[in-house]
Amino acid sequence: MHTTPSFANLTLVHHPLVQHKLTLLRDRRTPTKIFKELVDEIAMLMAYEATSGLPLEPIPVQTPLEETTGWKVSGKKLTLVPILRAGLGMVEGILRLVPSGRVGHIGLYRDPDTLKPVDYYFKVPSDAAERDFLILDPMLATGGSASSAVSSLKRAGGTRIRFLCLVAAPEGVRRMLTDHPDVQVLAAALDRELNSHGYILPGLGDAGDRLFGTR
Ligand code: URA
Repeated sequence: MHTTPSFANLTLVHHPLVQHKLTLLRDRRTPTKIFKELVDEIAMLMAYEATSGLPLEPIPVQTPLEETTGWKVSGKKLTLVPILRAGLGMVEGILRLVPSGRVGHIGLYRDPDTLKPVDYYFKVPSDAAERDFLILDPMLATGGSASSAVSSLKRAGGTRIRFLCLVAAPEGVRRMLTDHPDVQVLAAALDRELNSHGYILPGLGDAGDRLFGTR
């Protein structure tokens, strides 16, 4: 993992398998089934990196031969919060690594008049102040939804929040740094820019459409 010098809030996951799979994901010829599998696998690999700092506590364990001291992840269960709908594609891969993780959901749409994101669904565990959260969305584009999701989670009491995406645009990372400098962003790639429609370049297209075959 590397923190980029340009953005103090951004950590890029350079693992070779992540980069290989991300390139397959970018390929316009990749069909929906494979796209979904790749998002799932990349999310799992990124979660491996994202969980490397989880605190441990010692516990006794009885092997077939004797008692020894093992380790257990301490604290409340990690909570995943996919932003609907594309964030859903990242949940199962992460739960394969952290099967006892909890899953909240945030649904957002952009108000056509104000162009501001509006929550239409929000549900996270009630003891939010005691939990570590990973907000999930494959694409960090303008940062509007990401920032709004973090604000909602903070209003619900969340304090230990990170944002996990596959591809980030500089505009989105900058917006997060301005609005929520305490939230670390993890991404597999920092792309060049947004186009006039808010798509990331070079990007991978519309992640939700490619995941769910709604193009
Ligand atoms: N959302 C997407 O799915 N793709 C982009 O490039 C930007 C936002």
